[in-house]
Amino acid sequence: MNLAGHGLVWAEPNLATTALSSDGNHLRLEGPVGAALSGAVTDQDRAAWATLRARLLRFAAVLSPLNHMSPPRIAKAVGNPLLKLAMIGLRARLMGAREFRELGRILLTNVHDLLDDELTSPLLKGALAFEATLGGWLGPRSPNTVLPWLVRLSGQTAGVQGALGLPKGGMAALGAAMAASATAAGVTLRCNARVARIIVDGERVQGVTLTDGEEIRAPRVVSAIAPKTTLLSLVGARHLDAGLVTRARHLKARGGAAKLHLTLRAAPDFRGAKLTDRLLIAGSEHDVERSYNPVKYGLVPDRPGLEIMIPTAHEPSPDGTHHLSAIAQFAPHAPTDRDAARADMLAACMAQLEAHAPGIGALVESAELLMPYDIEARYGLPGGQWHGGELSVEQMLFLRPLPGLAQYKGPIPGLWLASAGCHPGGGVSGSAGWNAAIAMEAE
Ligand SMILES: Cc1cc2nc3c(=O)[nH]c(=O)nc-3n(C[C@H](O)[C@H](O)[C@H](O)COP(=O)(O)OP(=O)(O)OC[C@H]3O[C@@H](n4cnc5c(N)ncnc54)[C@H](O)[C@@H]3O)c2cc1C
Repeated sequence: MNLAGHGLVWAEPNLATTALSSDGNHLRLEGPVGAALSGAVTDQDRAAWATLRARLLRFAAVLSPLNHMSPPRIAKAVGNPLLKLAMIGLRARLMGAREFRELGRILLTNVHDLLDDELTSPLLKGALAFEATLGGWLGPRSPNTVLPWLVRLSGQTAGVQGALGLPKGGMAALGAAMAASATAAGVTLRCNARVARIIVDGERVQGVTLTDGEEIRAPRVVSAIAPKTTLLSLVGARHLDAGLVTRARHLKARGGAAKLHLTLRAAPDFRGAKLTDRLLIAGSEHDVERSYNPVKYGLVPDRPGLEIMIPTAHEPSPDGTHHLSAIAQFAPHAPTDRDAARADMLAACMAQLEAHAPGIGALVESAELLMPYDIEARYGLPGGQWHGGELSVEQMLFLRPLPGLAQYKGPIPGLWLASAGCHPGGGVSGSAGWNAAIAMEAE
């Protein structure tokens, strides 16, 4: 999309991470995926992490071509997709018998055991366990937690594998660059035009009806919102066969990430940590697991993990206030009392912040906390789920979003699916849209 040519500038293309300790003995991970560790870490852990990191990045790179292809139809796979799969298998085998076996082993283990086998530092294990489960509905001890982490590690920022970037002007600036690029390519964009219904007539998609009643006719409709919402709300059960409706209803979309926004009168002090870093509060791998346990029962954890960014440390605000934006995990997606859960979660987040940046509470001018159900209401992500549908092994590859729909082609002629709810899932990668466009072109 030539986003750089359309205004995208990185405030920081490769953010360092500081894993915060409440006694100020922090651990700093610099370079993509913590290439260099400093602070609270032993030489033994530094060496063990270097080996594990290299292995994880190698495995993620071997699997990464999967992100840029339609998952093959297992029953009918022929030609190109099968060849691509065979190439990935070959690349995995070419790593050598030992690494190939190791890939198989770690894919079947869980993040907690993987980290516990190799590392000793609770702060390092906590930071990595938080990283691995970010956006998921899985604790580090849940089965099959390594594959989603490898998918995350296969991503790139500015061409660097595993790097995390911050656009100048924030994420909205990325959207603006995408919009400018699309407009230059001849696309007409309409904002504030909410689709109420996809029009199906004569067993074909014929266009969409907006919430204000306007009809837009088109032979093809590409839905870039979650497949569950597209099928059940926009198309409607009466146009789908009963089996598909049941399977769509059973699609798992439980979001565990809440979003916290604070306006602060002055810069907070996280006991000397650099405010331009990405700051993590995830004291140990056990803390991450303990923050996941209550949400299974719709309850708020006492000590949620936090991924904190302070964009105003990169680009000062005109009035000198600071903005703190954090992902708080885990948060219940369906508590019995939503308002009470939101208030409890805000209190738990503020207690975590206060323990790591004493006095921060007194700096707060305004606070907003979006729980997963608030994110669902505002942005339409079912369950507020990060990936628009859980990225768990039983909902990955040719099973994503559902068997038979994994090639981006909807169940009704003319309908295409292109959101994070499709293969290979979410994060801001554009992969699902890219693959859907290729599939449409090939049709
Ligand atoms: C709390 C939270 C934090 C996250 N943080 C990160 C992060 O730091 N880094 C990262 O890479 N990813 C992050 N993600 C994940 C990332 O935001 C998503 O995976 C990604 O945005 C999905 O992209 P998408 O284009 O499929 O859907 P979306 O980005 O959800 O886009 C869909 C758009 O369609 C609109 N829409 C919905 N319904 C309708 C309708 N009926 N008619 C018209 N328009 C409609 C929505 O308003 C939305 O603008 C986060 C997710 C969450 C929930």
